[in-house]
Amino acid sequence: MLDIKNIHKHFKGNEVLKGIDLSIEKGEVVAILGPSGSGKTTFLRCLNLLEQPDQGALHFTDGSLDINFAEKITKAKELQLRRRSSMVFQQYNLFPHRTALENVMEGPVVVQKKSVAEVRERALKLLAKVGLQDKADLYPSQLSGGQQQRVGIARALAVEPDLILLDEPTSALDPEWVGEVLQVLKMLAAEGWTMIIVTHEMQFAKDVADTIVFMDGGVVVEKNNAKDFFDRPQQERTKQFLMQTK
Ligand code: ATP
Repeated sequence: MLDIKNIHKHFKGNEVLKGIDLSIEKGEVVAILGPSGSGKTTFLRCLNLLEQPDQGALHFTDGSLDINFAEKITKAKELQLRRRSSMVFQQYNLFPHRTALENVMEGPVVVQKKSVAEVRERALKLLAKVGLQDKADLYPSQLSGGQQQRVGIARALAVEPDLILLDEPTSALDPEWVGEVLQVLKMLAAEGWTMIIVTHEMQFAKDVADTIVFMDGGVVVEKNNAKDFFDRPQQERTKQFLMQTK
């Protein structure tokens, strides 16, 4: 569905991504693992143009969208990309003065200019899907961390993206709320949503991801199907990392 090639990114002389390639099929779940500072979040943000890569390219294999990051990217292309990939943030990033329902409706109404009535109905269904049908009219401050993150997930689904990017979706949560969010993500994986998830949740990655990408120092050190990655890591650096996280 999507080919990502040779992504480079530096911040003030610090080269954080040194040529990342990744191909992802429709319905595939890719988990990105790696030590702190290895560039996982930066890579994810590059895919949604929250950071502009220095070079590299992104190609939807149906030919519908090509982006060469080395060139100036038009606003229209940026919007096209954002419509096709939506982000779930570590800190939820909900609008504090909007209800759960309004947060979910924001993208389709404001960005996609869809009718409020149609969007409202779908947003209510999405809130029900993540188990929050009775919280639609509450504000983020009235919700637990786990509930806020489930609103964040419903919001990401609301624009009907081809790809969902999730940046450590459970790492800001108190341990008691982690399970319910992972449960929702498992359900999405089972429904066939295409996702790239940066996570430190090893067991979750093992259970849910089709493919594991292990990054260190701004490069992909190892990439494999989840079973072989955990059962038969090839690279010394991967073995070390897995030992440390046991
Ligand atoms: P973690 O698991 O701790 O979240 P990560 O693998 O996601 O780490 P990144 O957050 O992508 O790593 O950071 C990679 C490197 O890039 C770090 O050295 C970080 O300090 C640096 N970095 C990230 N964003 C910026 C920025 N906006 N300006 C300057 N440096 C940045």
